[in-house]
Amino acid sequence: MPAIHFATALTATGWADDVRLEIEGGRVTRLEAGVPAGGAERHAIGVPGLASLHSHAFQRGMAGLAEYRSTAADTFWSWRETMYRFALTVEPDDVAAIARQLYVEMLEAGFTSVGEFHYLHHDRDGRPYADPGELAFRIAEAAGDAGIGLTLLPVYYRWATFGVVPGRPEQRRFLSDPDLFARLLDGAERAAGGLDGANVGVAPHSLRAASIEEVRLVAGMADGRPVHIHVAEQIKEVEDCLAATGARPVRHLLDGTDAGEGWCLIHATHMTADETADVARRGAVAGLCPITEANLGDGVFPTPDYLAAGGAFGVGTDSNVQVDPAAELRQLEYAQRLATRTRNVIATTSASTGRTLFDGALAGGARALGRPSGGIAPGAPADIVALDGDHPAMIDRTGDAILDAWIFVAGKEAVRRVWVNGRTVVDGGRHLRKDAAVKAFRDSIRRVTGRF
Ligand SMILES: [Zn+2]
Repeated sequence: MPAIHFATALTATGWADDVRLEIEGGRVTRLEAGVPAGGAERHAIGVPGLASLHSHAFQRGMAGLAEYRSTAADTFWSWRETMYRFALTVEPDDVAAIARQLYVEMLEAGFTSVGEFHYLHHDRDGRPYADPGELAFRIAEAAGDAGIGLTLLPVYYRWATFGVVPGRPEQRRFLSDPDLFARLLDGAERAAGGLDGANVGVAPHSLRAASIEEVRLVAGMADGRPVHIHVAEQIKEVEDCLAATGARPVRHLLDGTDAGEGWCLIHATHMTADETADVARRGAVAGLCPITEANLGDGVFPTPDYLAAGGAFGVGTDSNVQVDPAAELRQLEYAQRLATRTRNVIATTSASTGRTLFDGALAGGARALGRPSGGIAPGAPADIVALDGDHPAMIDRTGDAILDAWIFVAGKEAVRRVWVNGRTVVDGGRHLRKDAAVKAFRDSIRRVTGRF
């Protein structure tokens, strides 16, 4: 393919001007700075693509349907009832159409890979499909059509809540036992096996849905691949875990498993100071989903203490109510500003807030998904985002001020071109297959809202 030239780019070794990249076999094979474009394709600003490390694709289809008060005090738990009801409406074609639309939106916003925390496994009556991996194949098909890097995380979900309470009828599409989970994992491996740039991990859903023995069992099946788990999203979850096990959820997980390197703790929102320091020290990645956590009223992650302890983090779009990496990073910082009544809470003294957020999410996202560390460098996958140098927010901005302008001012509308594994998937801010994706999505949403 032709070479690419950026007037300025954030490379793995920092900002550089007049950067020329040669790409072959999906990777950057040559990087030169301070050179003219020559015959290369010219772009203004190049930055590496980010990972959405936590997504439930089907929930994109219910975005906006839970923004009314359903009980006297609406909470995560009442939202969850709406989500359960929606989960019972989607057929395999809907899962594919909704996921494809979501992944198109992710790419248009500047995400180049996604960790799909895949728990919708069975038919609407709760019976496994003839191939238990049916819906994993639909997710992989959607990722392949959109051209996003997929990390497929089949979910082990057995119990309704702590104390091995049997699953509820509304949870029937999620449930499995260790034998069935082995077949779901096999399905996910087959589904991802046919897809360029895809990999697989495992995901015990939470300490509510899996006993600590089962979390260990499922984590053992990862065999060195990523392990993701929802851990402490809600105060009620902390209280229920304390009542059932005598320990808070993060402590229960750290004591009962080897959670650390290779693990991603989603929504480790409610932690004590000791738990915060221990998660950081053990080398797990904190999977933060700032927009969803705000939307669901989860609480605020102790980001300053966690970062001070050297903790790694990445961001995920989770419920996919909004899809924009810049907006996720902005929300992460804004939650801290509101909580501490100060500004630039996450920045270090050596880098801007935008740069600190971006570098953290880039490295942590890649680590959580078991992908090569992000960054534009020779040998690295060519997962690259070109930003609009003519966007009003970008005028006369250089270096880290570009990231600050993208994250705090422009957001996803500044994304012009996106390459995944060296292939162009977005041009002029528009996904190349957007029209077909939107049409299938529209047809699907009309079907499922009729069943909702
Ligand atoms: Zn989640």
